[in-house]
Amino acid sequence: MNIHEYQAKALFEKFGVPVPKGVAAKSPLEFEAALAQLPDAPVVVKSQIHAGGRGKGTFTDGFKGGVKFAKTKTDALDYANKMFGNTLVTAQTGAAGRKVQTVYFTQASDIKKEYYLAILLDRASSRPVIVASTEGGVEIEKVAHDTPEKIFKIVIDPAYGLADFQIRDLIARLGFAGNEAKNAAKLIRSLYACYWETDAAMIEVNPLITTPTGEVLALDAKVSFDSNALYRHPEIIALRDLNEEDPKEIEASKYALSYIALDGNIACLVNGAGLAMSTMDIIQHFGGSPANFLDVGGGASKDQVVAAFKIILGDPNVKGILVNIFGGIMDCNVIATGIVEAVKEVGLKLPLVVRLEGNNVAAGKATLANSGLTIVSGDTMADAAQKIVKLVA
Ligand code: GDP
Ligand code: MG
Repeated sequence: MNIHEYQAKALFEKFGVPVPKGVAAKSPLEFEAALAQLPDAPVVVKSQIHAGGRGKGTFTDGFKGGVKFAKTKTDALDYANKMFGNTLVTAQTGAAGRKVQTVYFTQASDIKKEYYLAILLDRASSRPVIVASTEGGVEIEKVAHDTPEKIFKIVIDPAYGLADFQIRDLIARLGFAGNEAKNAAKLIRSLYACYWETDAAMIEVNPLITTPTGEVLALDAKVSFDSNALYRHPEIIALRDLNEEDPKEIEASKYALSYIALDGNIACLVNGAGLAMSTMDIIQHFGGSPANFLDVGGGASKDQVVAAFKIILGDPNVKGILVNIFGGIMDCNVIATGIVEAVKEVGLKLPLVVRLEGNNVAAGKATLANSGLTIVSGDTMADAAQKIVKLVA
């Protein structure tokens, strides 16, 4: 789960990570009051969307910059009005962009130098890792590619936590000294506490800045959480912004379906994440392109199958459906009955290929065959995939 910059910074403050003062506004009616809470200009106006690269982004109406430096509060108000309700396209949003529904005003900081600092889970070592660089503000992928020696990594033993010597090592490598070093050490320690205690999956601060007076601040904040740990954090679930999520994915989560929209045209309905992955692979193998990942789980009910069909059909790109079910826990006939009901209920017009295998498969196949519906049966995964690819071609 992702949160907005303004929410991430509020969380940072709770853990003692210094951030510039800021106020978020969710409607243009709130802009003036929000600006009034900040000291004198300059002010930075920041579009709140769940994607980075906002500063270099462009709105669909041609207005440039999702992050703007305003010399006066009048300018800030003008920028905010141009951003609000407008769609921002950045390197991370895809061509469709994201509609700005919250604007964040922050007191502008004087930047001495920009750094990069992130904490994330390193899958290779199964440990938290701090990634830092003296080259902040720019795309870290570019730094990693052009000057990998300027990126430092510190791997943390999760049982011991972040050790003081590791912080000192990082501070030295980033070139901090004196007061800056003291402030940076405090910030890194607080940021790790925030990462650890909130079950964050990733915290990225780009840029982390120093100011001419020796302050060290998180100027930007991107935080995502491990969804499997959210049950331990109702206060974080409360930060979820459904405006930023695909409505089909929200609907799917109501029925405990794991659904992820993709950009192909063959919808898949599968039980089990592994089978769902291999179904997407085999569609690609035969020259097709999957429209989604959809796992109905090990013991799907008829209601879930009907909901799954409705979600799939809500995607206008879908030109055909492949159902691939292995009846281990699942009774194939329950799925077959669900499919027949769903097809009748939604009045399916698109080609549908069904491959069933496993527990009570004969009864399941009979239910499909006797339904009077045009459902194409696939014998193996390969057979089913080839059939649906041909039908949507
Ligand atoms: P991003 O483009 O989505 O990563 O948004 P950021 O919050 O990182 O802002 C983009 C850039 O705007 C930063 O890298 C800074 O260079 C600049 N910027 C943001 N806030 C301030 C500020 O308070 N003062 C100054 N001087 N520049 C800022
Ligand atoms: Mg940034």
